[in-house]
Parts: sequence; C-alpha cells; structure tokens
Amino acid sequence: MSKVLIIGAGHAGGSAAALLRQYGFEGEIVLAGQERAPPYQRPPLSKAWLKGEAGLEDLLLRPESFYAEQNIALRIGVTATAIDAGGKTVTFADGTVEAYDTLILATGSTARKLTLPGADRPDLLELRTLEDAERLKAVLAPGKRLVVVGGGYVGLEAAASARALGAEAVVMERMDRVLARVASQPLSAFFTDLHKKHGVEILTGAEVAGFEDAGVRLADGELIAADAVLVGVGAFACEALARTAGLACDNGVVVDETARTRDPHIYAIGDVTRRPIPVHGGVMHRLESVPNALEQAKQAASAIVGRAAPAPEVPWFWSDQYDVKLQIAGVPFDADRQLVRGDPASGAFSVFHLAGERIVAVEAVNAPADFMGGRLLISKGAPVDDVLLADPAVSIKAVAKTQA
Ligand SMILES: Cc1cc2nc3c(=O)[nH]c(=O)nc-3n(C[C@H](O)[C@H](O)[C@H](O)COP(=O)(O)OP(=O)(O)OC[C@H]3O[C@@H](n4cnc5c(N)ncnc54)[C@H](O)[C@@H]3O)c2cc1C
Repeated sequence: MSKVLIIGAGHAGGSAAALLRQYGFEGEIVLAGQERAPPYQRPPLSKAWLKGEAGLEDLLLRPESFYAEQNIALRIGVTATAIDAGGKTVTFADGTVEAYDTLILATGSTARKLTLPGADRPDLLELRTLEDAERLKAVLAPGKRLVVVGGGYVGLEAAASARALGAEAVVMERMDRVLARVASQPLSAFFTDLHKKHGVEILTGAEVAGFEDAGVRLADGELIAADAVLVGVGAFACEALARTAGLACDNGVVVDETARTRDPHIYAIGDVTRRPIPVHGGVMHRLESVPNALEQAKQAASAIVGRAAPAPEVPWFWSDQYDVKLQIAGVPFDADRQLVRGDPASGAFSVFHLAGERIVAVEAVNAPADFMGGRLLISKGAPVDDVLLADPAVSIKAVAKTQA
C-alpha cells in the first residue's frame, strides 16, 4: 500500500488529505505542519474572526476529529527541513524522518519582512497565522491607533476590522494608490473613498524610513504616531524545502497543470507554487488564494489516485471590507483596455479587463452577477460587445456576440 506524505497542514495540504480519502485512496496519509493548529482558513483572520464575529471552531477546515476518523495521521508543530528525493524521505527539525512514496509540498507563503531600521522590533505585527491574528486582536480597542504599512488586501481588511472594533486606523502605502499591484485604478479609488468614509486615514506615496517606540518614521522626517504597527507588504513562497530536493523554483515551486514538479513523485500545491493557468494560455504565475489552493489540491489528489484531471478553473479571489464584497475573476495579463460597468458612486459596479474581443478579468464590487457571468465568459473565451458590456441594464448573459 502506498504512502502519501503532505508537508504543510494549511488550506491546500488539509484539503489534499481530505480529497485523497474522498477519491478512494486507501494507503497511508501523513499530514505534517509546523503550526500548532489543525488546518484552518486564513481569510477570516483579517475579517470576521478579527472583528469577533467568528470563533476558533469556525476557522477550522474540518473538525479536529475528522483526521483520526479518516485515518489521516496529523502531525502538528513539526517543521520539515530537508527532502532526500533519491531515498524518498523527509527529515524534520526534531530529528525524525518520514518516508514517502508520493510527497505533496503545501508549505504556502510567508509574510515579507522589511529591512529598515527598527524592522526587527518584536512589537511589530504581521498577519499570516492565527498567532499573528491573536496578537493583532489584542491591541485593537477604542482609543488605540493602528498604523498599517502596506495598502494591499490584508492591510485594508485589517484597517476595516480595526474600525469595527473602535480603534483608529492609518494605512500607509508607498505607491501612489492602494492596491496598486493587484487592482485597477477605479478599484483603488473606490476603496480609498470607502475607507476614508469609515474614518481611516490613507497616506499614499508614503516612504517608510524606520520604526520607533512612538510609531513609524517617514523618509521626509514625519512621525506617524501609533499604538501598534502592522506590516503587510506582501508574501513570498516558502520554497526553501523544495530547493533541498533540487526542484525547480522561480518565485514558487514550478509545477505542471497536474500540480506535479519535475520529480514524478513530488507534487506541490497552493501559495508555494508557480503554475500554468490554462484559461490564460498556460502562462506561468503564482497565485495566493483559497480557490487556487483547492484547485491544485484537486489536481494532485486526482493524479495520485488515477482519476480524470479536474476541469481547469478561472482563477478567482474575494475580499470583504465593511459592507462591500469584492470578487475578482481572471488575471489581466494581456488586457489592452478596461471598461467600467455601473457607477462606482452607487457602491455596486464592475471593472472589466479586455484583450481584443475577450474578457480576461473582472473586478466586481457588490455585483455578484457580473462576477459569475464574467467568470463564465472568461472560461469560454467568448467574444463580447463593449457597448452592451458597459450598459448595466443589459444582462451579462446577453453581452456575448452571437458567433456565426
Ligand atoms: C490574513 C489573510 C487573509 C486572506 N484572505 C483571503 C481571501 O479573502 N480570499 C482568498 O482567496 N485568499 C485569502 N488569503 C490567502 C489564502 O489564505 C492563501 O492563499 C491560502 O491559505 C493558501 O493555502 P496554502 O495551504 O497554500 O498555504 P498556507 O495556508 O499558508 O499553509 C501552509 C502551511 O505550511 C506550513 N509550513 C511551511 N513550511 C513548512 C515546513 N518546512 N514544515 C512544515 N510545515 C510547513 C505553514 O506553517 C502553514 O501552516 C488570505 C491570507 C491571509 C494571511
């Protein structure tokens, strides 16, 4: 009977273990991760859980009893340090060695650290794990002032949650707009307004020079006073373990469309991978999202049990801030223009990204029908009519051109 060893008990690793059993795998499964909690969901750490609207049990992917019931050996609090690909073993920091027939790497990503004076202060916060979130939650209260360095999704969500808890929030962004690396200009403008309306101070073009007892020092000498500072400046793939096996890494462990690395016995899934995206012509990209973790968990589990490969999915992502639900489908790699459907001032609109006649991405704000319809049109590669697409009175289903 063969043995699957999964390193990284996060969203991808936990899902792969469950799917292997669901698909009928009867061999041994060992799921090993360095955090001390069973696999849990990270999205609520900056949203519902941080605001106190969800408890610990709501975070868990599955109840803790699930793993024993499914005969999945869950080893938590253990760090894998090296892979011997020839001998098919993994060594852990505690000196133990685990053999495998098939290895799945699901080591995720880790918060990027700044290398500025004071960036190693123990009181600086980051938000990646449950432990990080517990530290952050402890400092959010009325009268406290949180300064968030980095205007990405996690930073903005944390600022919104801070406001919900009665704390003051300041978001500092080095670029000229928040979400600059990950969203269109209309979306950045909308979220800037939204946060300002909720009392968040947004500072763009803010270059941090260092961190001090009293707060964050800017390059122009100004001090931004803070009771707590959260650094949210992106994440990078935890690929060091994969490198010990000589696997190709290039801002992520390189895998194919079945999540397999160049070693036929080793798969990699989730945030740690750089993967082809079939709906975007197979372009290689690293995605950080729950849907991506689930899709690759399905790919690897299917390949391991010899089941037909799952249909390729359009990448997607969501973010919740205040009463706004943002849903994004596709990646605007080769987009040549943007088109706004609906009025941002109404609080519900979408930004479509097009390449030629095709939609390649949609950013939908409180517009679930645009998200669903846009995602379908991206997957079909259907040509669309710009005039119809820009008219919110026309159903999204009706914007595809009838093909001869
Ligand atoms: C605050 C926050 C909010 C988010 N919100 C959203 C959202 O709204 N929507 C969305 O789609 N995505 C969101 N994400 C991203 C999403 O959570 C990730 O894409 C997803 O968790 C990736 O799953 P993963 O299993 O690849 O990695 P992870 O969940 O990071 O799990 C990797 C695990 O591997 C462990 N590990 C690493 N190295 C080793 C080792 N050497 N040995 C043993 N274990 C190891 C890590 O400790 C970790 O537990 C959010 C992320 C964060 C942090």
